[in-house]
Amino acid sequence: LACPYFMPDQRLEADWLFPHRLPLGAGWSGICTASPQAPRPLEGELKSACNLGYATNCPRLPAERHADAVRFAMGEEADGLLRVRYAMERAHAPAGHGELVYIVASGEWQTRHGNACVQRMAECYVEVQMTRRSNCIAGEPAYDQQEHSTQEEGNGD
Ligand code: SF4
Repeated sequence: LACPYFMPDQRLEADWLFPHRLPLGAGWSGICTASPQAPRPLEGELKSACNLGYATNCPRLPAERHADAVRFAMGEEADGLLRVRYAMERAHAPAGHGELVYIVASGEWQTRHGNACVQRMAECYVEVQMTRRSNCIAGEPAYDQQEHSTQEEGNGD
């Protein structure tokens, strides 16, 4: 799960234990939209908080917030449309979910999220999954049909 205030913009190649299991499909750097200055979190923050959500130790995390984390999962793909599911959590309880629709041929979105961070995270997530699919590494699934869980795979908490 990623922090809902994270606006990723470029891949972060770091010593992730299981990068393909990260909530956004890989590690990302970017900016924090929780702060008016929109700072770029340091690598340690990116690795322990922004990319993983539930960043309760992060001093920038607003006390009043709609969600602690957001996760994505690949949905059905048919007729050139890929459905990307998202789900928000607040205090480990559901805090909203929905579906975004990606047009595979054009790389555009038929349905976008109203929150720019969530939309951008969805774009990053799909970008990684599409790259993985095109590379089609032997033995590795094209993309995970299951929701990613960092806690399960040891990438952090
Ligand atoms: S974890 Fe903290 S620094 Fe990172 S995006 Fe969230 S609020 Fe900002």
